[in-house]
Amino acid sequence: MREKISFVWDIHYSCNFRCPFCWFNGKWAEMEKLNRYMPPEELEEHWRRIYNLYGESHIMITGGEPGLYPEFIGLIERLSSMHTVKITSQLSGDMYSFARRVDPERVVLDMNFHPMESKLEPFIRKVLVLKKHGFSGGVCYLAYPPQMDKIEYYREKFEENGIGFALAAFWGSYDGREYPMAYTDREREMIAPYIGDSDRIKYHLEGKKTRGKLCRAGYCYASIKADGTVTRCGPLSDKPMGNFFESDFRLLESPEPCVAELCPCDEYVWLVESDKGSVLS
Ligand code: SF4
Ligand code: SF4
Repeated sequence: MREKISFVWDIHYSCNFRCPFCWFNGKWAEMEKLNRYMPPEELEEHWRRIYNLYGESHIMITGGEPGLYPEFIGLIERLSSMHTVKITSQLSGDMYSFARRVDPERVVLDMNFHPMESKLEPFIRKVLVLKKHGFSGGVCYLAYPPQMDKIEYYREKFEENGIGFALAAFWGSYDGREYPMAYTDREREMIAPYIGDSDRIKYHLEGKKTRGKLCRAGYCYASIKADGTVTRCGPLSDKPMGNFFESDFRLLESPEPCVAELCPCDEYVWLVESDKGSVLS
């Protein structure tokens, strides 16, 4: 039997920040053309179709900045009555109303702190208000080369406020070097304890090959772009498997082999367990 399904949904490509490491830099105008804005009740109908097909699912909403989507809080109220929700956000939106109106039993937050665009004190204030209303979830900080010297400083600031702190490795180029391959041994040692288990280090930090391995992406998990295009996962974003906004959209009937070279984000978790093991052995 199929386990609870997870979707990652790029709700729109729009953001009030311009982080230098953002995947969308230089592409915002092009990406914004994919945005399809719909009222909450229409989006609720699409997600009800998924509920009727596959039962309660887990929707991981990202963007751009999801909090800027029109009527975002009302939309989350509707979706979280059917599905559980995770939102990746830099918290620049109205998180005070969000904290009052949204059910923390159904919604978790993945809070990204970007010091080049965000101020520490107001950010911590928002996190503490969210925590007071029952929201779990910690703060994530990107190990981007120019902000690595501040990792310890920010870790202490968050932890002294009782806020969990995690790091994500940077995938991209900086100063003519390709990361994460360009991290020095010292930097790797510094990042590794925050990255988590050995699987995450192998796939996320060291870039283990995944081609040919059996994977549940597309079966128990799928990635939805702002225009509704669905792919098995981020690395296969050039291989659409349907459109979420079409009534005949369906997931795969079973796990299939991976056809990508690498799985750089956290989507390696969808590899079938035996294939994960064979990579590690
Ligand atoms: S907050 Fe996120 S989406 Fe916005 S510019 Fe920064 S990295 Fe990009
Ligand atoms: S291993 Fe990663 S890249 Fe390959 S299909 Fe699974 S999620 Fe996609």
